Parts: sequence; structure tokens; C-alpha cells
Amino acid sequence: MLVSAKEMLQKAKAGHYAVGQFNINNLEWTKAILQTAQENQSPVILGVSEGAGKYMGGYDTVVGMVNGMLKNLEITVPVALHLDHGGYDACLKCIEAGFSSVMYDGSHAPIEENIANTKKLVELCAKKGISLEAEVGAIGGEEDGVVGMGECADPKECKAVADLGIDFLAAGIGNIHGKYPANWQGLNFDVLASIQELTGEMPLVLHGGTGIPADMIKKAITLGVSKINVNTECQLSFATATRKYIEEGKDQEGKGYDPRKLLAPGAAAIKETVKEKMELFGSCNKANE
Ligand SMILES: [Zn+2]
Repeated sequence: MLVSAKEMLQKAKAGHYAVGQFNINNLEWTKAILQTAQENQSPVILGVSEGAGKYMGGYDTVVGMVNGMLKNLEITVPVALHLDHGGYDACLKCIEAGFSSVMYDGSHAPIEENIANTKKLVELCAKKGISLEAEVGAIGGEEDGVVGMGECADPKECKAVADLGIDFLAAGIGNIHGKYPANWQGLNFDVLASIQELTGEMPLVLHGGTGIPADMIKKAITLGVSKINVNTECQLSFATATRKYIEEGKDQEGKGYDPRKLLAPGAAAIKETVKEKMELFGSCNKANE
């Protein structure tokens, strides 16, 4: 059964580790991540962007697939199904479809509008036992490659949004989605420390987990980061392994063209990446604590 991410992240914050959010794109992705979580006895958050939800056929399809796998693969570790960077309407649709967690990304709206929508969702999610993530300070994307530094959130705005009753907060601290540019200046730990000081127990979320050096990840966890989003890194591992299979001509040997064979190396590569992250984040063997 899917669970809200609230309790798993409160435990992570108290236990000084972080739970990974791994974004899913299809059945192979979902299965690889769930199996890795089970094998390592780690809680896990499956992230679904609006685009990925649409790609997989819609939110109901995603919920059906994930719930089916939890049952058929006998997954017993805590699993949350989470909308990643949702608009207000997407949040409503995912709540309706059976997601156990949503992120409302109002970071591009004026802070007043962000707050007003967040308030409405706090009420709705509380009624349904669904966890809610909000974001303050936009997190840069690939197009920001030339900037070299993601945006930083205003700690006072973080405090204002945290006080609305959300369950965890994403705050920009120089992190960026996608690959990091060569001139990236690293995470801003002063800003992170100020945010944590004002928001207290609130678990903090680090987006753009791909390519942040391990020592920065560990330091961020000591400063209150309890959820780390990983997406690009699994995509890169999958693509590299699939490329190798094709380039070695394996798809042309025997029944190597069978999709179950063709996609197997990519799935194994995702499992490897997810395991590495769970070890780095410290979430292995925390499923029953
Ligand atoms: Zn993000």
C-alpha cells in the first residue's frame, strides 16, 4: 500500500539521513526502483512529473501500475507515489487518482499566489492523508547552464510557506536540474543553514541531485535535507547501458531484439544507480525503523 511521505521524511530528518525520490518514466523504471528499495530495505519516493504522467498514459495508469507492483512484487518497504513539480490542477488530479504525495510548484507565481494555492492544498491533503511539498525560490534548469549558479530561496519566504502546514519544503540553494555546468559554484550552505534555522523540524528537499559531489550531499543532509531528488542520473545510466548493448550488436544475436532482453541492461543500470544513491543518502535498512 502506498504511504504518505510525511512520516518517512520526519524519521529521516530525525535520523540524519535522506530518502531518495527517483523519477519514473515507464514500467522498467518503476520495477527497477521498487526492487532496489526492497533489496536494500530502504523507504523510497517514486517521482512523477506532469510530462511523465502524460507519457505513461495518465495518472490513473501510473497509480494502477505502481499499486499492482507493490502487490505482485511483494514490496513491503514504505513507498510514496509523488507528483513532482505539479501545477495546482495537476495536484488536484493526482490526489483524485490515488497518489500518496504531491508537490505543488508555485515557485514561478508571485509569493502571494504561491501561498494562497498552497493553503488550499494543505487543507485538501490533510483530509486525505496525503503529504504535500511546496517550493520557494525557483530551481534552475538546463537552460541556466551559462549562469553557473542556481537561484537561492529567501529564508523568510521559506519560513512563511513552511508555516502554512506543508509537510516538506523544496528551497533553491544553488542546485540545478539536469547536468551541472563546469563553472557551477556549488551549494550555498549559508542559505541552507539560515533556512533550517527558521524552519526547524521541517524536512527540506534538495532537487537536482544528479552530479552534486558526495561530500556536498552529506553536508546538506547534516543541515536538514531529508529528501533528495534524482532523475537525470538514472536516465544517463539507462542510456549508457542500452547504447552498449546495441553497439555490441547484442540485439542482433539470437532473440536479442526481444524488448525484455533489449531493456534489461538499462534496468540493471538503474538499479545500480539507485543503490549507490541509497547508500550515499544513508537510507538503506531504514525501512522498519
Ligand atoms: Zn525538481
